Amino acid sequence: MPISEFALIQRFFTRQKVKNPSTHLGIGDDCALVSIPAGYELAVTTDTMVENVHFFAGADPAQLGHKLLAVNLSDLAGMGAKPVSVMLALTLAAVDENWLTAFTKGFLTLAERYSVDLIGGDTTLGPLTLTVQAMGLVPKGQALLRSTARAGDCIYLTGRLGDAGLGLKVNQGYCCVNPEAALKRFNQPDPQVNAGLALRGIASACIDVSDGLASDLGHILEQSQVGACLDWDELPLSDAILTYINETGDWTMPLVAGDDYELCFTVNPEKAAKLTIGCKQIGVIESEPGLRLNKSGIIQPLQVKGFEHFA
Ligand code: ADP
Ligand code: MG
Repeated sequence: MPISEFALIQRFFTRQKVKNPSTHLGIGDDCALVSIPAGYELAVTTDTMVENVHFFAGADPAQLGHKLLAVNLSDLAGMGAKPVSVMLALTLAAVDENWLTAFTKGFLTLAERYSVDLIGGDTTLGPLTLTVQAMGLVPKGQALLRSTARAGDCIYLTGRLGDAGLGLKVNQGYCCVNPEAALKRFNQPDPQVNAGLALRGIASACIDVSDGLASDLGHILEQSQVGACLDWDELPLSDAILTYINETGDWTMPLVAGDDYELCFTVNPEKAAKLTIGCKQIGVIESEPGLRLNKSGIIQPLQVKGFEHFA
């Protein structure tokens, strides 16, 4: 007999201990209850992953569980918020207990690593669609916004660019040395939660890079009403990416490919000495609108777009 909805929730989702004092009531009632400590704001975000849009049919369920939570924690990181709790809405094509066991393992292992409480969700039957709502805490007024970059600020990036994009190419048949590394970056991104926390009070603006640097930095530029010039020679590119560019001529890939889940942020030069996290300066904010690239001394407009669902 197939497992009932309630037995499924009981079996897969209600086992973890509560990790945060802000979690007043977790799974089991009509709503969860979350308290917000005095002087804090709740940062709330949601991200959905749909089969055949965000992941391939038959994708490894443990990796899906990890990535679904990681992409949501990455949004909290982009705001400088400390993750506390998440809701999980699952639409499943069928109840496959092996799939659910692996999925929850990937999901809850990452939740454990960042002390996040799974406090509720919904479970329904339909085309495989995975949604998380994540909540984090940030001291009032300290959230890192997209709208507050200023001309003269330096632009930084945590980690490297394009490795996840290379992973996607490997999935689509591209051969490279050490494909496992690229695939891992695509399938199991590491959300930059601790970097986000360390940037409070230092970064003037911040965004998590999920749709490609050019597109996501573009959001900072639009909302802050500024422009920017990136320095090609300063972009943190792996040997695998440099080889890919040599072989294909596709040099814009690391600037437009999605799924990096690094943080791109701006810092007033007077505060740059306070930076304690691993990051690299890749450009500067300018008053002239638009995104430009300095490549071998030639400054060219960079009019490349990231992934858009309704394009
Ligand atoms: P209701 O009918 O009141 O919406 P449900 O039967 O959908 O309640 O869910 C019962 C409890 O289980 C609720 O607390 C809900 O938040 C939780 N829940 C349901 N699905 C999930 C899930 N996939 N992950 C975590 N909690 C879940
Ligand atoms: Mg429900």
